[in-house]
Amino acid sequence: MKIKRLPPDVAMRIAAGEVVERPVSVVKELMENSLDAGATRISVWVVQGGRVSLVVEDDGRGIDEEDLALAVESHATSKIASLDDLESIGTLGYRGEALSSVAAVSRLDIRSRTGDSSSGGRIKSEGGVISSQGELNCKAGTRVQVDDLFFNLPARRKFLKSPVAEMRRITKLIQEYSVAYPEVSFLLYGDTKLVYSTPGSLDRGAVLERLWGDEPKVRSSQGERGNYRVSLWWQEAPRTSRISLMAFVNGRRIDEPTIKAAIASGETNSSGNWAVWIETPPDEVDVNVHPAKTEVLFRHGGDLFSSVKDCAMSLQGDRRPSNPPSLPL
Ligand code: ADP
Ligand code: MG
Repeated sequence: MKIKRLPPDVAMRIAAGEVVERPVSVVKELMENSLDAGATRISVWVVQGGRVSLVVEDDGRGIDEEDLALAVESHATSKIASLDDLESIGTLGYRGEALSSVAAVSRLDIRSRTGDSSSGGRIKSEGGVISSQGELNCKAGTRVQVDDLFFNLPARRKFLKSPVAEMRRITKLIQEYSVAYPEVSFLLYGDTKLVYSTPGSLDRGAVLERLWGDEPKVRSSQGERGNYRVSLWWQEAPRTSRISLMAFVNGRRIDEPTIKAAIASGETNSSGNWAVWIETPPDEVDVNVHPAKTEVLFRHGGDLFSSVKDCAMSLQGDRRPSNPPSLPL
């Protein structure tokens, strides 16, 4: 068999498929950009589970009109400039690949205006090819609209779940971000109906109570070990053995099986809803493991494990009555 170079547009679509797995990945990338831009209010509209259309609008810093074309190019970012910056990443994004990936596999429309400029700009692209660009009068902030996701990647479009199932993933993601950023107001609309919202004025525990309900009571504890500061919230679920967990490190949602293991390693029943908030110096954690950035590496994983375990056990300890009832003989 001869080896042939793939045409660049095919290579680009294949690579884009790694960043953008399904509609929820688009929402994640766009919302992270809004958060990196300092937004205090983020609105998300989803049509047909994101198969037809997805819009994320924020009131953040905005993009200069002359930078719009660069923003949709791959490996173009305002967040890092050199390899050294990877040692201490303070933003959610840094790869400069999200907008270009989304652009490659959709019809994209970005409108943006920075706070200090009197007019904004708009750029449209189809399958990564810019189709129009110009000045636009719009409000400060950024609005990104993604239509016909995977229209040019039929193999991936086939794997999309029903609109209801895709919407469920998007709702869960936005709920998790609303826990991570209680100071930001999130609004989620599904096919024009308001599905979820937060006011942006609650503390983290109050957002969790909104999500989980306040019965049984949500308990919290804090702990510190080495370079890891951990806050934990727990709502007991006595009738199941299931642990449902959302975990964040430095404001980033992560999938971290060892955190679940740390919670479960205590001697008492740990079933129920858990939220784990970890703060650590940026150089303690390597997020550059996978394009989706939900898999991370910790420099001193043992300290983190112990800290989470201690916190979990102190919470579970709270639950026990101070005078245990005496056993019948
Ligand atoms: P990254 O977030 O990794 O830098 P992206 O492809 O997601 O890469 O975005 C490219 C650039 O476009 C960002 O670095 C940022 O400068 C700009 N940008 C994207 N979305 C927004 C937004 N909502 N508000 C302000 N700037 C944005
Ligand atoms: Mg980004």
